[in-house]
Amino acid sequence: MRPHALAAAGLALLHAGPGAAWLPPVRRLLPSLAGEGDPGHVALTFDDGPDPRSTPLFLDELDRLGCLATFFVLGELLERHPEVGRSIARAGHEVAVHGWRHGNALVARPGRVAAEIGRAARLVAAVTGVPPSWYRPPYGVLSAEALLAARWHGLRPVLWTAWGADWTARATPGSVLRTLEPGLCGGATLLLHDCDHTSAPGSWRSALGALAGVVGRCRAAGLRVGPLGAHGVGVPGAAGAHRFPAPASFYPRPEARPEA
Ligand SMILES: [Zn+2]
Repeated sequence: MRPHALAAAGLALLHAGPGAAWLPPVRRLLPSLAGEGDPGHVALTFDDGPDPRSTPLFLDELDRLGCLATFFVLGELLERHPEVGRSIARAGHEVAVHGWRHGNALVARPGRVAAEIGRAARLVAAVTGVPPSWYRPPYGVLSAEALLAARWHGLRPVLWTAWGADWTARATPGSVLRTLEPGLCGGATLLLHDCDHTSAPGSWRSALGALAGVVGRCRAAGLRVGPLGAHGVGVPGAAGAHRFPAPASFYPRPEARPEA
C-alpha cells in the first residue's frame, strides 16, 4: 500500500473503530448523546471544516435545498479561514465545536483536550458572534475530561446515529446515500464531512453529491431536515431527552490546569 493509502486506511479504522464499538450502548443508555431527537426531524451535521475549497459549495447546495445544518468546526481551521466560518453563520447554520485540532482524546496528555475545547469555543463565539451550543469529539471518542470541559463551556456533547462513510477515497454520492439510507429515520442525526482535512483528498465531493438525495428521501418520508438546534435533543419530553446529573459549577475550570 502506498503511504497515503495506508494513512487513509488508518483514518478509516480510527473513524470506524472507537465510534462503532461504543455507539450502540450509548444509543441505548444515552439517546440524546447519540443525537436521537424529535421523531419528525432529521439533524444534518458536517464535521472537520471550515475549508474555503469545499465548505462554500456545501453552503450553496444547502441554500438550493432550503435546508439548515450544524457545522462542527476545528479551531485551527476556523482561525485560518474565519471568513468561511462567518459565511456559515451568516447563512443561518449553526457553528459548533469539533475541537482545536483533530486529535484523539485517548492519546492526548491530561488537560490538553479541555484547553482546546475552551479555545475553540471562544474562537467560534468571536468569529460568528454566537456562542456555540454543541460539541462533538473527533472520532466520537468522548473522554471524561472532554465531557466536563464541554459542560463547563456550555456545550452539549452530541455524536451521531448514522454516517455516510464519506471519508474514504472510494466513497461516491451513491455509496454515501446507500450507507446512510438505513439510518434515514425520524430522530436521526446524520454525520457527513464538508472538508477532507482528515479524510481522503477530495472525498467531500461524495457527501456534497449525496446531499440532494439524502434531503429528498427524508422529505419524501415526511421528515423535516435541519440543524441540531431544531432537533429537540435533550428537551424534556423529546425522544432523546436526557439530563446530565451534575451542574457545571461542580467542576474546576479546565483553563486553570497547569497543562492548559
Ligand atoms: Zn472529525
